[in-house]
Amino acid sequence: MSNRRTRRAWAAALRKHTRPGRVLHAEIRHDNACLIHSPARVCTCDPDRVLRDDDGKVLETVNGAGPFDPLEMRGATG
Ligand SMILES: [Zn+2]
Repeated sequence: MSNRRTRRAWAAALRKHTRPGRVLHAEIRHDNACLIHSPARVCTCDPDRVLRDDDGKVLETVNGAGPFDPLEMRGATG
């Protein structure tokens, strides 16, 4: 799948699991070499995205969606 399709799949997963009052945890697994860990705080890797509920249960896993953009998390906190 292309980055664009997988990014959409991730956004759809966030929307699907977002409920009023529900706590979701999005785990973005960056490479050790990713510049998100540098002062620049810019993602330069292709992280795995894992969405969990408040009990730590994995709801969705999306791979290959390209570099992480903080804006993509809008709506995830309900
Ligand atoms: Zn990264």
